[in-house]
Amino acid sequence: MKQNALSKVAVAGLFAVAAVLGAMPGCSTKSVSGTFTGTAQGNGGEVSVTLTIKDNVITDATATGDKETKGIGDKALEKLPTEMVAGNTITVDTVSGSTITSNAVLAAAKAALDKSGLKASDLKSAAATAEVAQDVTETADVVVVGAGGAGMTAAIVATDAGKKVIVVESQDVAGGNSVRSTGGMNAAKTSYQDENKFDESAGVEKTLKSAEKYADNADVKALTETVKQQWADYQANPTGYFDSVELMELDTMIGGYAKNDFSLVKTLAENSAPAIDWLASIGAKLTSVGQFGGASVKRIHRPLNADGKVASVGAYVVPILEKNCTDRGIEIMYDTTANKVLMKDGKAVGIEAAGKSGNKITINAKSVVMATGGFGANNDMVVAQNHPELKGYITTNAAGAQGQGITMAQASDVNAATVDMDQIQLHPTVHVDADKNAHLITEGLRGDGAILVNAEGKRFTDEVGTRDVVSAAENKQTGGYAWLIIDQSMVDASAVIQGYINSGYTVTGSDAASLAKEMNVDASALSATIETWNKAVEAKSDTEFNRTSFNHQLTGNLYALTVQPGIHHTMGGLKINTNTEVINTSGSVIGGLFAAGEVTGGVHGANRLGGNAVADFTVFGRIAGQAAADYAK
Ligand SMILES: Cc1cc2nc3c(=O)[nH]c(=O)nc-3n(C[C@H](O)[C@H](O)[C@H](O)COP(=O)(O)OP(=O)(O)OC[C@H]3O[C@@H](n4cnc5c(N)ncnc54)[C@H](O)[C@@H]3O)c2cc1C
Repeated sequence: MKQNALSKVAVAGLFAVAAVLGAMPGCSTKSVSGTFTGTAQGNGGEVSVTLTIKDNVITDATATGDKETKGIGDKALEKLPTEMVAGNTITVDTVSGSTITSNAVLAAAKAALDKSGLKASDLKSAAATAEVAQDVTETADVVVVGAGGAGMTAAIVATDAGKKVIVVESQDVAGGNSVRSTGGMNAAKTSYQDENKFDESAGVEKTLKSAEKYADNADVKALTETVKQQWADYQANPTGYFDSVELMELDTMIGGYAKNDFSLVKTLAENSAPAIDWLASIGAKLTSVGQFGGASVKRIHRPLNADGKVASVGAYVVPILEKNCTDRGIEIMYDTTANKVLMKDGKAVGIEAAGKSGNKITINAKSVVMATGGFGANNDMVVAQNHPELKGYITTNAAGAQGQGITMAQASDVNAATVDMDQIQLHPTVHVDADKNAHLITEGLRGDGAILVNAEGKRFTDEVGTRDVVSAAENKQTGGYAWLIIDQSMVDASAVIQGYINSGYTVTGSDAASLAKEMNVDASALSATIETWNKAVEAKSDTEFNRTSFNHQLTGNLYALTVQPGIHHTMGGLKINTNTEVINTSGSVIGGLFAAGEVTGGVHGANRLGGNAVADFTVFGRIAGQAAADYAK
């Protein structure tokens, strides 16, 4: 990995200069050497940092914290100490998506330094020795831009097809939005679904009714007829769990207001179960199936942790993708931001990028896979898509979601077309913590039985409706927020919820009245709401908001946390065909340029269903890897 090699050169230079300065009389008031350990409270428990200091230079740093979130928190434990040594400083950037653990590492390092008797300013400045790295030119069969889910999936598949692959990643860690994904991955007709009891007749009936609204859409009409027949056949002979590829297509089309590119939806659904099997083949097993908003039946696939509890899909899958890249010797160049697609005779032949120190990195390749994710973290770009109302909105997205892949491919010599750029999804359950950081609260909680109440302690919507509808309903409530209410049985079953509690997002009470006190809402109103809801669960009939997924009554200790809508997904992006080839503004394929994942548009139409984006990056990442490898022959 070239970037790492260069930074080690800079560190060696730093020590040489520091050693000389340390030997010079009058350069430092005191010289300290030794090993010092400090601790601080992390996400799940204590984080500890040990600094080894020699003549005021940090020669080694380690951080431990075995309760931190796997796949996210452990990045901070790994990265920050490395950067402390590289820069001879305890003031380093936090890792995107891992604020709590990062801050704990910084605080523990400060405590360790305090024990040494040194101040941060006593550490020799690394800035003086900072080197601008050399320009680099490399050659590969396939260059992949972005080390998120789509990029790493494509890289693995292209490597398995015998090609030399290089991945560039603008951030100092892999994972993008993918590592943040909590809920799971949609797939239809998997063996894991059959392990569930079918109790979702009302969901199927509701979908068939909703489909009537799109009777003028030939694809939806044909799908509806097919699903009606499948449903009648199942009812006549109910074996296994009811789902079908066509029902997933129908849900996705209805969820997207039939604005989706149906050919892409078909590709997504048909390849979803094989994608679950492919993930299992590389070590990622998504065995637990649940229900999510907009899906007629239980279709979202999730991992279970060692205790048998549902865990976050991204934090589980991304490290496995990374390991598969490492095992195959795939080079991932971190801190390397692609800024140009190289074109020759109208075809993509590589990329140009900037390294951390601004050096130019050129990668000549036979094909390019654009996998840079969406633009949810680029508020200017969101607002520019005719969304002035979203100015300054909070976002759930990772820092790298800047839309650079879209902009690069729109350059005049590439001339890629885009679709649905104005389709921006708000997520209704984003929690803002005490430090004003936004955290997505997984939709699975509502599928698994949680309800939403407003500041008056009353339900106001079908909680498992599509994200846009629930977000719009929330925006109309007092203060534009809601409380998400969960119970003890849900806490016991989910490591994800336990993480929310450990992070201090929740308030709790032994019953509705005591919870109401903690929430500062009217106790009799909340008690009545929960009583009415529990009766609806028993009757399997929600006469207030027509919710059809009930799960269980809310009993025992109750927990609540505030949620509000935040920018979550950008449905629009580069126009592709079912082979992930990027299409230009004249409707022709751009030779050598492929795209997969959130950088593309068309799959989700006007609204993405929860669980369909992980399916998107796996299905289309696999296709892009194979197609780019085939093109590179
Ligand atoms: C909080 C959260 C929770 C979610 N939960 C779910 C869920 O449960 N189920 C589901 O289906 N979907 C979920 N999603 C959506 C889903 O995670 C994303 O849509 C999907 O992971 C996108 O994958 P990707 O590979 O296309 O992009 P990303 O994972 O975002 O990867 C893109 C990568 O490209 C890098 N990059 C960007 N620009 C450049 C450049 N110029 N040069 C080099 N690298 C660049 C980025 O840094 C990033 O690492 C969630 C999203 C968020 C934000």
